[in-house]
Amino acid sequence: MEKTIIIGSGPAGLTAGIYLARAGLSPLVLEGMESGGQLMTTNHVDNFPGFGATTGPEIVKSIHAQAERLGVRFQMDEVTSLERQGDHIELIGMIGNYFARSVLVATGASIEKTGLPGEAQYWGRGISGCLTCDAAFYKGKRVVVVGTGPAAQAAKNYLEKVGDIVVGVVAPDEARSFSGDGAKLTQVGEIPADGAFIVTRRIPQTKFLKGVELDESGTIVTHDRVCTSVPGVFAAGDCAQPKFRQAIIAAGDGAFAALAISSYLKTLEMR
Ligand SMILES: Cc1cc2nc3c(=O)[nH]c(=O)nc-3n(C[C@H](O)[C@H](O)[C@H](O)COP(=O)(O)OP(=O)(O)OC[C@H]3O[C@@H](n4cnc5c(N)ncnc54)[C@H](O)[C@@H]3O)c2cc1C
Repeated sequence: MEKTIIIGSGPAGLTAGIYLARAGLSPLVLEGMESGGQLMTTNHVDNFPGFGATTGPEIVKSIHAQAERLGVRFQMDEVTSLERQGDHIELIGMIGNYFARSVLVATGASIEKTGLPGEAQYWGRGISGCLTCDAAFYKGKRVVVVGTGPAAQAAKNYLEKVGDIVVGVVAPDEARSFSGDGAKLTQVGEIPADGAFIVTRRIPQTKFLKGVELDESGTIVTHDRVCTSVPGVFAAGDCAQPKFRQAIIAAGDGAFAALAISSYLKTLEMR
């Protein structure tokens, strides 16, 4: 029986790992299919304190190394089911089954992809799903918003306010394809573009949770910042954040969750 398991190795899970390891709780991190999380898909990050302008993988590598040095254990496994059973939580993974007194769900949220040709190739090489993160890189350039309705219009307004960006908007079914020179996006359908922002739904990775309250978008509902509707199950980062999905916010939630888990485990010991 583990004292605590963290599901996810993005900024939320890794930061929680650092705090829990330093508290002597020897956390086990189940990394999932996307080790390091969403930051692994971007080459430009300029708003994570202490790193200056850098790449997402550099930030993840540094936090991962710190967690390992402090004794966090890592296992590559994708959790397919989480359920509370009596006094513990049972996780079923693709590789193994796990039992823990407490679990932190830090599984992030992924952007609903358009599935258009070229999207995978140019994702992070001109295509982005994060305005807050990447709009500033396109000053003086041409950008296409791929989306519909008020969300696409809001993205256009946001980009125009960032300054000197020529912005077009196209619906996903009209965009047809993304193409470029192999290294960088240059065109959305027939429209020349230095960048494209995909404005579609964010899908929290929470389908495997049993009995945990979710809102209509699939985001985990929390009280006291990181506590879920199931005792012993905590949540941090994008999977529980309906509004501001940023790495530093996920890391902060991870730290908060680790402290809440330490305190929860102490309460169990006292019973
Ligand atoms: C292209 C792009 C650019 C970005 N740029 C910036 C930026 O410049 N600045 C910034 O602050 N933020 C940026 N973000 C947002 C930032 O990456 C996220 O807010 C942050 O990564 C969320 O961290 P997280 O730990 O909550 O989840 P994630 O980073 O999404 O990590 C989730 C983890 O959970 C794992 N997982 C998922 N499901 C399972 C499962 N069933 N079993 C086991 N493991 C599972 C995954 O493998 C992954 O390790 C960007 C995002 C994208 C997509």
